[in-house]
Amino acid sequence: MRIAVVERDVCNPKKCEWLCQRVCPVNRTGKECIKQGEDGKPVIDEELCVGCGICVRKCPFSALSVVNLPQAKEEPVHRYLPNGFCLFGLPLLQPNQVLGLLGPNGIGKTTILNLLSGQLKPNLGKPEATWEEVLERFKGTQLKPYLEKLAEGKIRLAYKPQKVDLIPKYWKGEVGKYIRNKDLLKRLGLRPEKQIEGLSGGELQLLAIAACLQKDAEFYFFDEPSSFLDVEKRFRVAKLIRELAERKWVVIVEHDLALLDYLADTVCILYGRPGSFGICSRPYGVRAGINSWLSGYLKDANVRIREEAITFEVYAKESLKAEVLLEYPEFKFSWDGFQLETQAGDIKAGEVIGILGPNATGKTTFIRLLAGELEPDWKPGLRLAYKPQLLKAGPERVRDFLPDLKLLGYLGLETLAERRLEDLSGGELQAIYTLHTLQTDSELMLLDEPSAFLDAELRLRIAKLIRQKVEEKGTAGFVVDHDLLFLDAISDRLIVFSGEPGRNGRASQPLKLKEGMNLFLKGMGITFRRDPETGRPRANKPGSQLDREQRERGEYYYSK
Ligand code: SF4
Ligand code: SF4
Repeated sequence: MRIAVVERDVCNPKKCEWLCQRVCPVNRTGKECIKQGEDGKPVIDEELCVGCGICVRKCPFSALSVVNLPQAKEEPVHRYLPNGFCLFGLPLLQPNQVLGLLGPNGIGKTTILNLLSGQLKPNLGKPEATWEEVLERFKGTQLKPYLEKLAEGKIRLAYKPQKVDLIPKYWKGEVGKYIRNKDLLKRLGLRPEKQIEGLSGGELQLLAIAACLQKDAEFYFFDEPSSFLDVEKRFRVAKLIRELAERKWVVIVEHDLALLDYLADTVCILYGRPGSFGICSRPYGVRAGINSWLSGYLKDANVRIREEAITFEVYAKESLKAEVLLEYPEFKFSWDGFQLETQAGDIKAGEVIGILGPNATGKTTFIRLLAGELEPDWKPGLRLAYKPQLLKAGPERVRDFLPDLKLLGYLGLETLAERRLEDLSGGELQAIYTLHTLQTDSELMLLDEPSAFLDAELRLRIAKLIRQKVEEKGTAGFVVDHDLLFLDAISDRLIVFSGEPGRNGRASQPLKLKEGMNLFLKGMGITFRRDPETGRPRANKPGSQLDREQRERGEYYYSK
């Protein structure tokens, strides 16, 4: 089977003068393999296409991909037409369980949520399919009764969308007008009198989650519930979703692996080629599923989903004997009604210090102080590379923005070279900015939330690049983030922030990784261990034997 995809948003036939059509060997014989579609952009006839890939290589905007699927797959469940993304397979839903969907961005996870929640009707890869055809296709499977009820409109479901920043466009007024459940408001820390227009990204996320949780439904779908939330809020939400799953069906898409591991009972792995096609695996137990995904190989299906395995190394050393690059004193700083107090600290060459803590307790203020944005006199006197939390996206092309294009391929983003920053998705922009910071000649890197909006694979690849940069170049970095697994993968030491959000914050001195994690996790009441097979940190299920034993020993972070 052949899948030809045209990214219609970036294709620009006026500029390239239909180059793909001119170079296609089938078109040159007089047949219409590539012809003009109703929208004035190319449509590729997959029956006529011989899969030579010439058009893909020649397209100046990287708008084309042609994939020859190695083995005959079952018929698609859904295809965006003409020449759009193609999805194979749907996950099996299980009662009283949280099912997680794991895979890169653009591989079909949100499409699956839209299909299962009835927002999109499966078309079986054709311009249109009737419900009879869909039900015939799923005849004899466990999914058929669900789809039957969905077709009849008899399923009560609740859906938390991915794009929570759109909420203020549709909901106006106070939070309490939409969320009436007082217990939910309290447990999520939402103030009912707050105006929706003035909510932060994290508060909008909590509002969307509360709106979904308060619905009386049978099936609940959560698309990326951790975006914009700090670690404490992520696990607070996770506890609520787990409670819900004791009596309901829950499906979740999540890129924070530690959170997914904590939340889900089973996971389906999505693999294929992002933007072109995605295949949904059978469900695995959460530990086995995440480990298989990390290994890059689905043993039972004999499918390689990635060239190499993702591994975890413990970088934190008992003590790093290296030159101190920067020492800073204990200080107090007031800004815009906010008070920050920090203990004195230092950072050494070849070291990464992770920064962890609740939102609005001064982490970004600390980074901006070091970057000289708030008090120019406080600049540390080192060559700096700084990635702020909020990123600007202008008309500049990725090719011109990055000092070097060679690492784009390692991140699987080589097709972005010709794109403008303003046309990138949130995750793509984040990866490009972080790469820019890593490629800038510097002695000290300041990275504010580099994992935000990235999928799990990109997070772990970026983590590797950060470590490589500090170890090979002898530079150092302060990294603020909310993904525990990401911080664990990069940090030698940790600064833990605490305080009253929006009013005051306190920063600890840089602590040994284990000590810092212990301090932080104890405050949250969650224990972590290491997975013996992969070395990744795993949250213990609350009340499990390990959880109780580690609490008794006061070891909230993993023991080796
Ligand atoms: S797909 Fe590429 S080569 Fe073809 S018309 Fe669009 S921009 Fe031009
Ligand atoms: S892959 Fe080759 S045959 Fe197929 S559309 Fe492109 S140029 Fe034509």
